[in-house]
Amino acid sequence: MRSFLVIGGGIVGYSIALAQQGLGRSVTLVDDAPSTPPASWGNAGHIAVEQVEPLASPATLRAVPKRLLARDDALSLPLRDVRHWLPFGLRLTTAARPDRFRAGKAALSTLVGAAMPAWERLVEGIGQPDLLIRDGHFVIWDTPDSAARGLRAWQAADTGTTRFRPIDEGERERLTQLLGRTPAGAIRFTGSGHIASHDRLFAALRRHFTERGGVVVTGSATHLPRRDGNVSVALADGRVLTADGVVVAAGVASKPLLEGIGHRVPMIAERGYHLHSDVGSWPADLPPLVFEDRALIVTRFRDYLRASSFVEFSHPDSPPDAAKWDRLRGRIRDLGLPFPLPAREWVGSRPTLPDYLPAIGRSDRAYNLFYAFGHQHLGLTLGPVTGERIAALTVDEGPDLSAFELRRFG
Ligand SMILES: Cc1cc2nc3c(=O)[nH]c(=O)nc-3n(C[C@H](O)[C@H](O)[C@H](O)COP(=O)(O)OP(=O)(O)OC[C@H]3O[C@@H](n4cnc5c(N)ncnc54)[C@H](O)[C@@H]3O)c2cc1C
Repeated sequence: MRSFLVIGGGIVGYSIALAQQGLGRSVTLVDDAPSTPPASWGNAGHIAVEQVEPLASPATLRAVPKRLLARDDALSLPLRDVRHWLPFGLRLTTAARPDRFRAGKAALSTLVGAAMPAWERLVEGIGQPDLLIRDGHFVIWDTPDSAARGLRAWQAADTGTTRFRPIDEGERERLTQLLGRTPAGAIRFTGSGHIASHDRLFAALRRHFTERGGVVVTGSATHLPRRDGNVSVALADGRVLTADGVVVAAGVASKPLLEGIGHRVPMIAERGYHLHSDVGSWPADLPPLVFEDRALIVTRFRDYLRASSFVEFSHPDSPPDAAKWDRLRGRIRDLGLPFPLPAREWVGSRPTLPDYLPAIGRSDRAYNLFYAFGHQHLGLTLGPVTGERIAALTVDEGPDLSAFELRRFG
């Protein structure tokens, strides 16, 4: 394989493109440069290597009724999108059976376990090690009761390569200063991390890619015409691009492309909302704060602050629910956080499959076709390791990716 074409310029697409260049291939990346930046830019920046358990779990199913009624209001199933979330929910219920959950966890934890070293290789490789900050994160609770419950849940969970401990005196003092009161409960994770800046990361990825001969094509892939067992890539402006290898890594938009050649892709847009602001007086060296009772994560990046929340099972093109940004502001005010408001609003889609495992593999519909999407809440975390896995697959020495193949959906 001498040439390779990647559809999608998110974290998964760029990670794949750079790993393909590492194999000496000539690589083209096609991205439609949308007016609202995608999830790879809008996420909370957390390298969440503590999350080795798929969300399709018996515990998640038990929690759904409570979450729908909870005061944090973090989970929503909009009536207008019932035709999207109802079939998805039924599949999720099956995927959350204890035996499927155990198998999913075994597969996901292997991938998540390799995620941080892959991130280190990526930022070293592009000459920007400072873009990855490995200083863990805090989990904070509002009340002694929720702190006791939350702590028990984390103690029972597998947290992969991360560890957590009660906060120490210095940390308690810092959080007290920030919140204007002592938190009812808090723990500190080590082994997780966050990125320093989305803008700088993507600028560096693109620069590194193009300096090594990579070509970025701005255009929207509409379908994958098949000829002699191989696909090419048709763009909305009429161009047709060919390559020895093609990978679909277009986040939620991977679904129509792959369904067009006969794959079944039961993916939903699990939308999240964020507020983006100046750093204000937020301490530069404070790791991300997860307010678990409020389903809220606040991350201090190098030049901005971001508060992210909400899980809305929806369609990528449905209009945003503007009330969610107001609720986010309400939470920030309730917590007394020094987060400058009103802040810029953003909504975007997590690409989620019903078993909460990504789809990574080689298509059985065309010889030259691969896919990598569906990374749900963990796409930033898993981008670089996905790039490495696809690279291994294209030289036929891949590790076992059968748990991630699309054929699991029939
Ligand atoms: C609020 C929120 C917070 C999150 N926080 C975290 C977090 O802290 N940690 C974490 O690990 N994950 C997090 N995630 C999840 C993560 O952001 C996603 O899983 C990840 O960004 C998916 O990356 P991707 O490259 O697959 O897709 P995307 O980021 O969606 O990128 C796909 C790219 O393909 C392009 N494209 C789409 N269709 C076409 C087409 N037809 N032709 C050409 N180009 C096309 C798009 O424009 C886009 O540039 C969060 C998500 C949200 C919404």
